[in-house]
Amino acid sequence: MGFFFNNTGSWILHAHLFIGDTYECSECHREYGMQTRRCPGCHAEMTGDKYSPDWIDDMIVLDAILDEDEDDDDDW
Ligand SMILES: [Zn+2]
Repeated sequence: MGFFFNNTGSWILHAHLFIGDTYECSECHREYGMQTRRCPGCHAEMTGDKYSPDWIDDMIVLDAILDEDEDDDDDW
């Protein structure tokens, strides 16, 4: 294990439906509630804005829950 003070990274936006947005460090993959110029965890300098919104994953889960409810209604 070691710290690399000269590495660079970017924040990966995770937009959650229920708990709000979080930002994952692309280098150490810690998640924070806000963007900072350097990652507090691994001190990578954040240079890019490479966002990979993954809120669609949450929507798929929500759709699955709704579909299941509809199936139950059909059985009755
Ligand atoms: Zn980091």
